[in-house]
Amino acid sequence: MARIVMKFGGTSVADLDRIRAVASRIKGEVERGHQVAVVVSAMAGTTNQLVAWCQALSPLHDAREYDTVVATGEQITVGLLAIALQEIGVEARSWQGWQIPIRTDGAHGTARMLSIEGRDLIRRMQAGQVAVIAGFQGLGPDNRVTTLGRGGSDTSAVAVAAAVEAERCDIYTDVDGIYTTDPRIVPRARKLRKVAYEEMLELASVGAKVLQTRSVELAMNERVRVRVLSSFAEGPDTPETGTLVVDEDEIVEKEVVTGIAYSRDEAKVTVRKIADRPGIAASIFGVLAARNVNVDMIVQNVSAEGLTDITFTIGRADLPRTRAVLEEARPQIGFAEILTDPNVTKISVVGVGMRSHAGVAGTMFRALADKAINIEVISTSEIKVSVLVAAEYTELAVRALHSAYGLDAA
Ligand code: ASP
Ligand code: MG
Repeated sequence: MARIVMKFGGTSVADLDRIRAVASRIKGEVERGHQVAVVVSAMAGTTNQLVAWCQALSPLHDAREYDTVVATGEQITVGLLAIALQEIGVEARSWQGWQIPIRTDGAHGTARMLSIEGRDLIRRMQAGQVAVIAGFQGLGPDNRVTTLGRGGSDTSAVAVAAAVEAERCDIYTDVDGIYTTDPRIVPRARKLRKVAYEEMLELASVGAKVLQTRSVELAMNERVRVRVLSSFAEGPDTPETGTLVVDEDEIVEKEVVTGIAYSRDEAKVTVRKIADRPGIAASIFGVLAARNVNVDMIVQNVSAEGLTDITFTIGRADLPRTRAVLEEARPQIGFAEILTDPNVTKISVVGVGMRSHAGVAGTMFRALADKAINIEVISTSEIKVSVLVAAEYTELAVRALHSAYGLDAA
């Protein structure tokens, strides 16, 4: 017997048949003796439609009214799911964010949760009532409805799990877990049984974005055990079901490398022939930071005749702005030219086991060299080594690394 939170995304509640299927899954957990809180998203496509209506009326609409509109998607699904549960004999009631209340700050459209009043929920769960909670929404400081940003119901679920001290937060989605890499590139990618919070944050770029990043950060801070699993799988759960996202202490056999992530949304920028003097990096990255351009990897080349090059990566969408900002600051920075390349991919090998193992980077560079793939930029952290390569080598590089670290399924 445990207290659990179950979260169902938009595709899992896309129509009445799926809502019935979700209800019977919940009934299964209730019959196993668990106390259950459920967090749901809007039906697939609903939030997009609501956002589009606001935009159509006014591109610069009032963010408070936007929240009033887009929060309604979840109001529909909590009511429908509560009805479906009652229909199959499960005691349930719906909760909107304001009724709990889930308090947030006043940043309409991207609000952050401040507190959740869990006592009433717990009391009713103990009495056998399923709490069906609207994800994505809360109540701002001025008592107006707020929303948490797209994909926010994952974060709602984790926050509710922390508030009711749930043993686990099960996130039901359209994939059956987290894989060692994108199975579309490597068919022999393996489903992971456990992944550490920090690894999950790094692996978020692998294939579909399974969890909202903020939900993983919150789970890490609040020590909520999250399980990602498919809402379409048949049959009862086994220990193999889904992937658990947990504290790294819970992972007994740490692999040195847990997974291979890649991101195609990168661009490379080289600022050529700048003076190699103190303050030059500060001036380049200072102007970029002032204009909210996020810089990721950085290398500075050796200098010749007092001049050097600096290469860095940014999000591809920021490329035009980066160019403009640098050109504007050209007189003060002083450089010969800017070279840009949008056709690059960042590939990362990720694993908490790296903290206590040497040679991870060496294996990576060897594997890429064997395939004659040139490395353009390198960066490392305690649990990650990343390289930038030409976009055309993405698949080849991911496959080579997946094999090199012994991740291929037998
Ligand atoms: N319905 C909201 C959205 O589409 C929240 C969520 O699904 O997580 O962004
Ligand atoms: Mg989602």
